[in-house]
Amino acid sequence: MAKRRRLAAGVASAAILAAIISPASAQMTDDAFYDEFAFNNSLFVVYHEIGHLLIGELGLPVLGREEDAADSLAALLLLLEETDEADQALIDAADGWYLSDAYAAEESPEYDLDSFYGEHSLDLQRSFAAVCMMVGANMEVFTEVATEFGMDENRQSSCAFTFQQAASSWFTLLEPHMSDTGPSVQITVGYHPSENFSEIAAMLEEGELLEYAATQALMGFELPRDVVIIATECGVANAFYDPEDGSVVFCYELAQYFRDLIVWASEEQ
Ligand SMILES: [Zn+2]
Repeated sequence: MAKRRRLAAGVASAAILAAIISPASAQMTDDAFYDEFAFNNSLFVVYHEIGHLLIGELGLPVLGREEDAADSLAALLLLLEETDEADQALIDAADGWYLSDAYAAEESPEYDLDSFYGEHSLDLQRSFAAVCMMVGANMEVFTEVATEFGMDENRQSSCAFTFQQAASSWFTLLEPHMSDTGPSVQITVGYHPSENFSEIAAMLEEGELLEYAATQALMGFELPRDVVIIATECGVANAFYDPEDGSVVFCYELAQYFRDLIVWASEEQ
């Protein structure tokens, strides 16, 4: 029973880790690279919560696990933007889940039962599912990433179906709620001041994390009521959609976790 987890993940991990900690641009300083990684992972999380919000506010049916559905919608919305920024955010999110698994494995080398009872798929599965959406959407752009992650050619090819199915399923559900003119309700974003996370909070606010997510991911839909998206210190590294009031909360602690994660991975090598 010993070390099953590392045997599963460890085969390709040195090569994958090396790819993850190489900034896309050689000119980038370490701090800029760490900040961008934290920003992009935070952006994916906000999109994921917007996924929950669209499901909740629009009353969409969910077949299977809602957490997987929210990941799928977040990945799809980013991929449909077809910009370098959105592509990089999704790559960083896949890297983030991969590192999160590797980091947890340092603490406890085996999965415990709680991992399987959880609402979310395992971090490694979330990572590979995002990679599959990427390479399924655009083989030309993402095959290098998928190959770095150790995904073989057959699986890369079959991901095209996974992506197409996700895209057409979401389109069927969302199409009746799409709006060319944007929602007629109010979408408000805000950043609460935080003494403990002032630097990461300033980085997210200056990069307009919430404005970007609200504009790109929400503006195409008509919504039944006003929506508020807030970044704040919560006491926990997490993010939430509250179906009671239709709000999304993103916790600074989670952005800090992602930044610590990439610093850890960089120092590990
Ligand atoms: Zn979720």
